[in-house]
Amino acid sequence: MPALTAPAPTVPAPSAGPACGACPHPLAAHDAVGLRYCRATAISELDRGCVCRTA
Ligand SMILES: [Zn+2]
Ligand SMILES: [Zn+2]
Repeated sequence: MPALTAPAPTVPAPSAGPACGACPHPLAAHDAVGLRYCRATAISELDRGCVCRTA
């Protein structure tokens, strides 16, 4: 009996898109306020977290 259950290749989950430069979340997770907030964070090189809604 040949084994018909070949191991499925492990495909990494597709990226959600380009990452934000100021926080570890993808840009897609940002709303308008979050984008503005993170942009200011990146420009000022602050370390204040972010306001992304990652629920
Ligand atoms: Zn961000
Ligand atoms: Zn974020």
